[in-house]
This record gives sequence, structure tokens and C-alpha cells, in this order.
Amino acid sequence: MSADTQLMPIPGPVDPVPVKRAAQCRADGRIELVGLAKDQIRFALEGAGLDPKQAKLRAKQIWHWIYHRGTTEFAAMTDIAKAQHGWLTAQFVITRPAVIEAQVSTDGTRKWLLQTHDGHDYEMVFIPDADRGTLCVSSQVGCTLNCTFCHTGTMKLVRNLEPAEIVGQVMLARDALGEWPKEGEAQSDTSYTSDGRMLTNIVMMGMGEPLYNFDHVKQALKIVMDGDGLGLSKRRITLSTSGVVPMMARAGEEIGVNLAVSLHAVTKEVRDEIVPINKKYGIDELLTACAAYPGANNARRITFEYVMLKDKNDSDADARELVRLIKHYDLPAKVNLIPFNPWPGAPYECSTAERIRSFSNIIFQGGISAPVRTPRGRDIDAACGQLKTSAEKRSRADLDREAAALREAADGLHDAA
Ligand code: SAH
Ligand code: SF4
Repeated sequence: MSADTQLMPIPGPVDPVPVKRAAQCRADGRIELVGLAKDQIRFALEGAGLDPKQAKLRAKQIWHWIYHRGTTEFAAMTDIAKAQHGWLTAQFVITRPAVIEAQVSTDGTRKWLLQTHDGHDYEMVFIPDADRGTLCVSSQVGCTLNCTFCHTGTMKLVRNLEPAEIVGQVMLARDALGEWPKEGEAQSDTSYTSDGRMLTNIVMMGMGEPLYNFDHVKQALKIVMDGDGLGLSKRRITLSTSGVVPMMARAGEEIGVNLAVSLHAVTKEVRDEIVPINKKYGIDELLTACAAYPGANNARRITFEYVMLKDKNDSDADARELVRLIKHYDLPAKVNLIPFNPWPGAPYECSTAERIRSFSNIIFQGGISAPVRTPRGRDIDAACGQLKTSAEKRSRADLDREAAALREAADGLHDAA
């Protein structure tokens, strides 16, 4: 591992990691403009020598080119004097995450393996449906939490993604889907093409816990929602959390997107085991925070995600308790039942189809919607909880080296005996 790599210290299983990092300079000294707020672009231009009035105008123009038209070259910015293109190129860059691999599933789901500028891998997934196209965006490389059913949680190396790397996923998807508006066209998040490829929705459900990277996720989503740019409505964006209770109110107030909560169990015993953050913020605290979530109402319900694990959390009694809890806390809720997606070495099996049906029926009978989510992109390991990159392989190599060193030491002891 190189000395300048920016890995986080891996904290205890439930502690947040510090996230603050300044705007990025590339190795060549140029400043990355993607991920900066409008004002930050203006300040960067001033810092590079433009007078305040010109910096303000140029920032507005550049913002439009970056986020409305998807431009990555200053030379294409036709309303900026040609003479300035070279100067801008020498000072600034507009980049996309590097694509290492792009895969397409038999069901049309696409997965991209991406790499940060300092060499860490992460993934994004696009899921086309009959009436929408959803991009599943990552917030971290790996995840510091260790939910026992989630492959991402087994990754050893973790770092927060920068705003540029988060918003960059959306921009890359627009590139790949050929969906930047043409000259004179308005940005639209409501039209959907008949080939089912328009990116209409975003879910923060890729790798990582978004509320452990709050500042960067907030900055990135503000850019995604900006009407002069990507222009996606907050109603089409959903943030999923495993239950970082102290950040939930801020997420509602400061970002304002839809909330999904990875509940997955209704008793302390089972949730402590499968979603270990529960030991820190229990079910009562979590559901109280849900009841107080700003903006949640019957028209904008909170989604409770519930992974179906055979003989672990899937009994009729669990389903009845789930209904009771939702009613007790008076939550505007819907439940998403997710069949467990297996991964090599996973300690669980998916509940039977019959069990899932019975569980779902009980919730429906309680007056709560409980659709069973169809797994998508399983053949390319793109389904919920299957995201995991070679970052782990690197650390496995480290482990192998350590094991070899231990063996040598043991041999040494053996020889000495
Ligand atoms: N860290 C966030 C968001 C990413 S996970 C969170 O936990 O909410 C997105 C969803 O996929 C979560 O509900 C997660 O619990 C679920 N998930 C994880 N592993 C899974 C698996 N193997 N099968 C099915 N769903 C899984
Ligand atoms: Fe992290 Fe979410 Fe996976 Fe839990 S389910 S390990 S919080 S990504």
C-alpha cells in the first residue's frame, strides 16, 4: 500500500469516521471542478486570478457546461473566449471516475467497476425498468459497518468517496446512456424513453453507509438536484441508511430526499446480530427518528428494507411484529422485501418463495404495502449486497503475506525447539 493512499482507519464496528477533506488538487496541481459548489467554482477562478465579476460570470457558464451539457473540455465551451480555453485547461480539470470494467446483465442491469484517482475500486449499477431507470450510487469504497449478510461489509479497505466521485457516477451514467440534453433542450427528469434507458431515479444504495459520509453525500446530492444542472428532483432520490440515528434528522432537513431504512429485523437479538449498528442505536431510537423524519408523510413514505433470511428473520411472528412496530410509531411506511442475494461464503440462505409470500401477505393484511423486490443483475453480481471489489483482494494478499510470515516464525520456533 503506498504511503499517500487515503484509507480510513477502520474504526470499531459502529463508529462514524471523520470525513472532512479539502477540495482536490490533482497530482499535476490542477483543480478538479466536478463536485465543487457553484460558489466554490467562483472562488477557485478568483484564486487563479480572474477578477470577481468575471469569475462570477465564468462560474455560471462553466457550471452550465459541466452539469447541463456534460462537457469535459474547456475548448467546447463556446460562450467563453477561445483565448481563455488554454488558461482554464492549464489550471482546472473536469473528470469522470475511471471505468475499469462495464458489464451488462441478461436482464439489462448494468454494472460499472470504477476507480478513484488514488487507485481504489468502487461500483455503480443502473437498473432499467418499465417506467423508470434507477442508478444505484456508492458513497464509500467498502463499508465500515459489518452487516453479516452484506458482501460490501466484508471489504477490508474503506474510504469515503469525494463529492466529485459521487456526482461523477451520475455524470458517467449520463455519458454511458447518451442522455445529456442537446443544445437548447431543457434538463428533464420526467421523460422516459421507450427503450427504458432514461436515468430518472437515484438510490444511495451502492457501496457504503451514506450517513457516515454525510458532508460529501450532501454536497454531491445538492449538485445532482440543482435546477441549473443535473436537475433531478428530491422526490426521485432515495438515501438508504442502516440506521445512523444522529444523522437522520440532518439528512431530512439539509438534503430532503426520500428515506429508506435497512431494518431487516424486529427484535434486538436478531438485529444486533445481523445489523451490528443496532447495538449502538436500537430499534426504538431508530423508529423514533423515522417518525420525526422531516418531509415524511403518506405521500412520501419511508421505505423499510427487509432482507429475507431463511430461519433468521422470516417467521409469521416477525411479520406481525413488523406491522405492530410500524403502527405503534405511526409511521408512513412501505416495506420492501428483498430476497437475500447470495455471495461466496455467505452465512445465510434466502427464505423460500412460500415463506416470503406468507410474510408479505401478513404485512399487506396489516394495511401496509410490502412488495417483494425482484433481484436484478444477479448474474453480474450487481444485486443488493453483492457489490464488492478487488480492494478486498489486495488486503487478502496482505493477509496471505502476514500468514506466510507467521508460518515462517512458527517454523523458526519449531526449529529452535
Ligand atoms: N449502507 C446502506 C446502503 C447500502 S445497502 C444500508 O445499509 O442501508 C442497500 C440495501 O441492500 C440495504 O438495505 C442492505 O441491507 C441490502 N443488502 C445488503 N446485502 C444484501 C444481500 N446480500 N441481499 C439482499 N439485500 C442486501
Ligand atoms: Fe454497510 Fe449497508 Fe452493507 Fe450494512 S448493508 S455493511 S451498512 S453497505
